[in-house]
Amino acid sequence: MPDKRDYYEILGVSKDADEKVIKSAFRKLAMKYHPDRSDDPKAEDKFKEVSEAYAVLSDSDKRRQYDQFGHAGIDGRYSQEDIFRGVDFEDLLRGFGGGGESIFDIFFGGGGRRQRGPGRGRDLQYELKISLEDASTGLETTIKVPRMEKCPTCKGSGAKPGTRPKTCTMCNGTGQATRIQNTPFGQMMTSSACSQCGGRGQMITDPCTECRGTGRVRQMRKINVKVPKGVDSGQHLRLRGEGEAGPDGGAPGDLYVFVNVKPHPQFKRSDGDLFHEAPLSITRVALGTDLDVPTLNGKKARIKIPAGTQTGSVFRLRGKGMPRLHGYGTGDLHVRVAVKTPTKLTSRQKQLMEELAIEFGEGKEKVSDGQKDKGFFGKIVDEVKDAVQ
Ligand SMILES: [Zn+2]
Ligand SMILES: [Zn+2]
Repeated sequence: MPDKRDYYEILGVSKDADEKVIKSAFRKLAMKYHPDRSDDPKAEDKFKEVSEAYAVLSDSDKRRQYDQFGHAGIDGRYSQEDIFRGVDFEDLLRGFGGGGESIFDIFFGGGGRRQRGPGRGRDLQYELKISLEDASTGLETTIKVPRMEKCPTCKGSGAKPGTRPKTCTMCNGTGQATRIQNTPFGQMMTSSACSQCGGRGQMITDPCTECRGTGRVRQMRKINVKVPKGVDSGQHLRLRGEGEAGPDGGAPGDLYVFVNVKPHPQFKRSDGDLFHEAPLSITRVALGTDLDVPTLNGKKARIKIPAGTQTGSVFRLRGKGMPRLHGYGTGDLHVRVAVKTPTKLTSRQKQLMEELAIEFGEGKEKVSDGQKDKGFFGKIVDEVKDAVQ
């Protein structure tokens, strides 16, 4: 890791800046570098940098530590997660675009490592296949997700309605079992989860019949998903609280919807740009033509193909590609011309071709008889020569 920059310098504030100044400096920079808003390839790194600076300087303990010992005082003492603990980025960044939710994905690569209270439900993943057209316009759809939900009958307590869980008699509700052992070093106290209640501190004497006392039931849930336009394969949406219910009435996990854009028969995609191959006959490219090419919105776009266009020529239709995520304009549609050589000629077409050949000075003899003698490889050599010219 290269030398870390000074936190005050990063935020552009003085050493004695107060909370308010620090906060407003952070918001300004975060807005500038938020990866959802900035096209700068370094935006994500810069965003992390300003967020870390803010996390430290907005916490009086960490700030004192930093003022005294510099980066060593922070890095030696706090883990990355500790540094960001207690900073409510969601709240700080509310109201501008991408929102705060995705920030933790940036820091911790997908939320899994973020520590939460015990008993949080599992995160779920769902793969959503969409068409390129849907990716281009955005899509609102309903998905069906099987998941564990809080039992509606007992509201997650696990106890039969009308009854209450009783305080565990073994641990008196602490959930802990302590044992005192005599060892050569004296008495040692060890504690572990209570074996009777499993650490919950409560016992269900009359379990709910629907969930058999677990507090959770499996449900097929319909969830509404809004896919923003410009989305690409591999990107995901995070729906907070739409994962599984936590055990013992704990907070639910999140649902990650991974987008998979299906291949399109007519377009290939690279970020915002689309590529389309247009087969054209020899006569059309030789004489020039108007070409109608398909676009993603279903309308045709017209290109003028000038006389003498070669195979492999690319024509660009500006703004006819994919919209970029979060409204940063639209890419282009690149149309590549591929000359179609006729494979079956009627006798009339053949006759015309032969006349054309003579017109090009290629001679009747060479075309009709010579072609046969040269065989397959002879023809290839001719084609290679043409391509080199
Ligand atoms: Zn129940
Ligand atoms: Zn117990």
